[in-house]
Amino acid sequence: MIEDINLNMVDNGLDFVLKSLDTIDKSDEDLKYSLLNLHAGIQLILKEILFQKDWSLIFQKVEDADINKLRTGDFSSVNYKTLIKRLKHECDLELDKKLSDKLKWLKKERNIAEHYQFVVSSDVLKSNIVQLLTYLIPFLKTVMVEMGYISSDDDRFIQIKEYLHTFDAYVDERLKLIEDEVDAIHVPMKCPVCFQETVDFIDETDTFCHFCDEQIEGFADEYFYYFVDRYSYIKDGGDDPVMECPSCEYETFIFLDGNQYVCLSCGVKPTQEELTTCPGPVCAEKIVYRLQSSEGEYEPSFCEMCLDYFRDA
Ligand SMILES: [Zn+2]
Ligand SMILES: [Zn+2]
Ligand SMILES: [Zn+2]
Repeated sequence: MIEDINLNMVDNGLDFVLKSLDTIDKSDEDLKYSLLNLHAGIQLILKEILFQKDWSLIFQKVEDADINKLRTGDFSSVNYKTLIKRLKHECDLELDKKLSDKLKWLKKERNIAEHYQFVVSSDVLKSNIVQLLTYLIPFLKTVMVEMGYISSDDDRFIQIKEYLHTFDAYVDERLKLIEDEVDAIHVPMKCPVCFQETVDFIDETDTFCHFCDEQIEGFADEYFYYFVDRYSYIKDGGDDPVMECPSCEYETFIFLDGNQYVCLSCGVKPTQEELTTCPGPVCAEKIVYRLQSSEGEYEPSFCEMCLDYFRDA
């Protein structure tokens, strides 16, 4: 009978999450376990939802599902990617975009912590965990508590919420310390390491994050990985969020909020008004700087390619 099998996934999951928060202020070695435990804990909690739907869903290969294997624990449990997919398709449960972004961060950092030298600082970890918990706690409340998997007065659930407040206050303190520097940035960019909006370009290619208090290596690649959703564009069409930069010509030019553009390679930050598209015959409406005559009137602004075409004609 399946009824007599209790995997304690929610209990163990909450224990793991709590343990992970507990080790954050400790040594580097403990920080690594914070990441490993946090990831393990959240996975366990999510797996419970699959288990309640149908116990075979927690097997990586549903066709291998076997009640005796389930009983003894001798099976390959569903991996993260499949877990998220099954929650969506089997349980009609799609995670909030911000929560799934933070889980993506967690999974990546967890892999780094497991296989490589661990480098993230406790500040950076706290900043990310605050954001993760900010989305995870409402999820636990609306899904796990509502469905009766977690009791709303569960001591561990209450403690997790308390950790969020402590870390949140701490992160706010740190942000206050760097307030002047951040205010002075013309267009602050979001940091792919701490996820705070505290990054400045310090020269053409280097970026510095005031929260992390260091240069961010591979800023453009990391920024694309976390913050630029090219997938929806490829899947559903519409405008490509990544364009060619009118200054350096790298395909790293993106639209920020409002009317602000930025190039993640060379750091130029033109506004919408400063840009237009080339009306020439060669390119397909390439983005160019809008030319203005000395009287302030707008003139047709051609890209280099189209200008070459006219010159050769
Ligand atoms: Zn940062
Ligand atoms: Zn550029
Ligand atoms: Zn052109």
